[in-house]
Amino acid sequence: MASKLLDAAVVGGGPVGVYLGALLAHGGLDVQVLERRAAPVGHSRAIGIHPPALESFDRIGVTPSILAEGVRIDRGFLRSEGRTFGGLSFNSVSDRHPYIVSLPQHRTESLLAARLEALRPGALRRGVDVEGLKDEGGSVRLRAHTASGTEEVRARMVIGADGGNSFVRTAVGIGVRRHMHRDTYLMGDFTDTTEDGTAAVIWLEPGGVVESFPLPGRLRRWVVHLNRPAQEPTAEELSGLIEERTGIAVDPAGNTMISGFGVRTQSADRMVAARTILVGDAAHQVSPIGGQGMNLGWLDAAALAPILIQTARTGDTDESALARFERRRMRSAAVAANMARINMAMGRPVSGFGLRARDLLLQALLTRPVRGVLARAYSMRWL
Ligand SMILES: Cc1cc2nc3c(=O)[nH]c(=O)nc-3n(C[C@H](O)[C@H](O)[C@H](O)COP(=O)(O)OP(=O)(O)OC[C@H]3O[C@@H](n4cnc5c(N)ncnc54)[C@H](O)[C@@H]3O)c2cc1C
Repeated sequence: MASKLLDAAVVGGGPVGVYLGALLAHGGLDVQVLERRAAPVGHSRAIGIHPPALESFDRIGVTPSILAEGVRIDRGFLRSEGRTFGGLSFNSVSDRHPYIVSLPQHRTESLLAARLEALRPGALRRGVDVEGLKDEGGSVRLRAHTASGTEEVRARMVIGADGGNSFVRTAVGIGVRRHMHRDTYLMGDFTDTTEDGTAAVIWLEPGGVVESFPLPGRLRRWVVHLNRPAQEPTAEELSGLIEERTGIAVDPAGNTMISGFGVRTQSADRMVAARTILVGDAAHQVSPIGGQGMNLGWLDAAALAPILIQTARTGDTDESALARFERRRMRSAAVAANMARINMAMGRPVSGFGLRARDLLLQALLTRPVRGVLARAYSMRWL
């Protein structure tokens, strides 16, 4: 028996695929989100949810639950060698949401998944590993491996939200430009023993950057630049580096997550190939230093959903709207990638003349008129 024809199938049930699924379900589409993992993972990974994403989440009514669980970061401080250079306030970056919300990625994913389930019960199908894709002209046929064997899913449009190693991207022959950076980082969540409350703090120290962000449950996320590969990281090692560079004592016993990571950035050559479209990390992966990758993907989803809803209503694919979507979203990803590159460069170890030059640059960047521009850039207002 031929499988039923869906309006859309989203491959990948990470934060971007689930949000896109919810937007399409909200628009009345018959959509399935196919996720290879049988159960969600509990890693806190991405934590920053920016104002444009919060405004977009308002469309499907998911923002209140995110605000109820998350911490609102309303300002950030830059410190170096015992001095505070100045601060950025986010209070003018949005009328509705003048803050960045901090929430562990697994909780954000779970709240988005709950919204999708309410809008279209059963639309998120876990344990479905897509391993074949064929564009048949009027529709796309997917072959997937599940616990009960192989099955086929047919859809008018297929969206690859399947992450940096995207199967969908390879299957439709979209190339990718990739770059491995020399920077490595150590990251961990600890009980918050600082006086910094809901502020984000960046220390630009001679030995390398230290970043810290509040998390729910009186925790704080710490990230430090390493000058060597991160091998079997420990909470003791991270807390030692934090104290050495900033003088702040962080108790290793209060650690709830520890991880080391290198930085790979990449950009797909295209986002649209006939009836198959890429979003999120499948299309563009930017450095986590700057914390914008997941948000970029959500903004892809927000831009794409109305086009797919219109396509489902009329039965015609609007190629010029898709071309515009691709152009705009690839431009936004390029801006975010460049910002992240600047963040990484500013956070590398520095000494002597380089240190003085950087201090002068920071003083200039934190003067009143430039500060507002920076706050807008860091809250993704120009994407
Ligand atoms: C340490 C770290 C910190 C970060 N911090 C931030 C931050 O603060 N803010 C921010 O915006 N971003 C941040 N990011 C980036 C963010 O985590 C990613 O951009 C985001 O997870 C991308 O979401 P996605 O849904 O596109 O892809 P993914 O999260 O990779 O999800 C893809 C999903 O597709 C599934 N999948 C893959 N292949 C298949 C297949 N063949 N069939 C079915 N399912 C499949 C996978 O199992 C996965 O669940 C951070 C990243 C890292 C590593």
